[in-house]
Amino acid sequence: MIQATNIHKRFKQFEALKGISLEVAKGEVVAIIGPSGSGKSTFLRCLNRLEMIDEGSIVIEGEELVTTNAEGKIQYANEPEARLICRKMGMVFQQFNLFPHLTVLQNVVEAPMTVKGVKYPEILPVAQELLRKVGLEDKMNNYPSRLSGGQKQRVAIARALAMKPDIMLFDEPTSALDPELTGEVLKAMRQLAEEHMTMIVVTHEMGFAREVANRVIFMDKGEILEEGTPEEIFEKPSQQRTQSFLNVVA
Ligand code: ATP
Ligand code: MG
Repeated sequence: MIQATNIHKRFKQFEALKGISLEVAKGEVVAIIGPSGSGKSTFLRCLNRLEMIDEGSIVIEGEELVTTNAEGKIQYANEPEARLICRKMGMVFQQFNLFPHLTVLQNVVEAPMTVKGVKYPEILPVAQELLRKVGLEDKMNNYPSRLSGGQKQRVAIARALAMKPDIMLFDEPTSALDPELTGEVLKAMRQLAEEHMTMIVVTHEMGFAREVANRVIFMDKGEILEEGTPEEIFEKPSQQRTQSFLNVVA
């Protein structure tokens, strides 16, 4: 589903990603954990071309988004192709980034209509069903400013799903929320996982990583230091660095 190989990303002299390789199979839920500044967000952003990589390759469902040839020359797919490849991935950020001037329903139907050209009568029932699934059927005509953080984030999830992605990328979707609101967002994500959505979730929610993820990746200083099943990572991590991180956050 996703094959990222030897991803390097530099910001000027600073190397934020130092050769990250990760394969994610269809239906797998992968949690990425690690200290602040370890490159988790940068890695997700590279996957969907919000950041350009400096070396490595990314193949999404068999299609090459970017490759590096034997001479070390990096080659991205051409613009329309790259856009189609990235459209397979939906992303939910820490900040909800909803359109403030659009209602909840309008936020959800917007991208399918403008990006994919889907007609309103066709997307309307899809959007209503997605909003029902995230428990917001009664908020469809509200503006984002009248929603709680947890509700906004559930709209953001429904909005990403309206594009019918094959893969969902989450970047700390609950870390901007008050603790009592994280549960409802995690519930929506858990439900997606149960429906076998392929997911990469950057999270500080160790309970979620432990219970929902099939695999946990520990990143530190731009590298994958360790990966394994939730039991392996949380019960008996092989790296001292992982253990000390878990001692602080878990
Ligand atoms: P957090 O848990 O705090 O969200 P993170 O693991 O997501 O951290 P990143 O946001 O990926 O970390 O950042 C990795 C490193 O790259 C950091 O040192 C950060 O300062 C640096 N970095 C990220 N984006 C940029 C940028 N646009 N320009 C320069 N440096 C950047
Ligand atoms: Mg981050």
